[in-house]
Amino acid sequence: MGIGGHQLPHVQRGSSPVRVIAIDGPAGSGKSTVARAVAARLGLAYLDTGAMYRAVTFAAIRRGIDPSDAEPVARLAEDIDIDVADKVTVDGVDATIEIRSPEVTRAVSAVAANPAVRHELVVRQRQWAEAHGGGVVEGRDIGTVVFPNADVKVYLTADDSERATRRSKEMLDMHYDQVAADIARRDHIDSTRAASPMAVADDAVHIDSTGRGIEEVVEDVLALVAK
Ligand code: C5P
Repeated sequence: MGIGGHQLPHVQRGSSPVRVIAIDGPAGSGKSTVARAVAARLGLAYLDTGAMYRAVTFAAIRRGIDPSDAEPVARLAEDIDIDVADKVTVDGVDATIEIRSPEVTRAVSAVAANPAVRHELVVRQRQWAEAHGGGVVEGRDIGTVVFPNADVKVYLTADDSERATRRSKEMLDMHYDQVAADIARRDHIDSTRAASPMAVADDAVHIDSTGRGIEEVVEDVLALVAK
């Protein structure tokens, strides 16, 4: 289903059947792979919120809007239809590949620092959870801002060189040094921005995936869910 609308539903633990597993962390920490696997193992829906920020960035570039121009980008975020599932579509156009391009990756942190864009996408993320009866949601501010009452919160990290190595295997058109520099730049913007900076929630469980296989980390998360 599409992610749209303007109300602010709140997802509360205990008062609703909605169950959220929040997985936050920086680029290359293994978040997406782990979140996807946990969702599959538990039969829950999965939402990649980074893909939503990337979708807005893609739409801005496509329409010739400067991604750091706050007002028009905010209006754009409110107007476009974004569908994030196996494929990512923006106003019906398949952008699954393009949202991962170096151009979008370079500009996405500026879009994500825009408070009005964040407000709009957080509304849509909460609506998504209501519509799906919860799920596994990954991003940067899921446990801190979007679902502060999530049932399980994980903050996944890995050391810098391992994160860059993992990402360079996905970004075949970028060299290791470029990928490492991009990750460092995004980490810095994402963790120092004024609006919902990337942070570890007080009640999140910190998991370091350095040198560990994805399957082991998935088992750790499943163990937390079972508790
Ligand atoms: O997860 P991914 O690397 O695809 O996210 C792309 C960008 O989207 C991040 O660098 C960050 O700027 C932004 N983001 C965010 N909040 C989220 C998810 C992603 O600010 N919940």
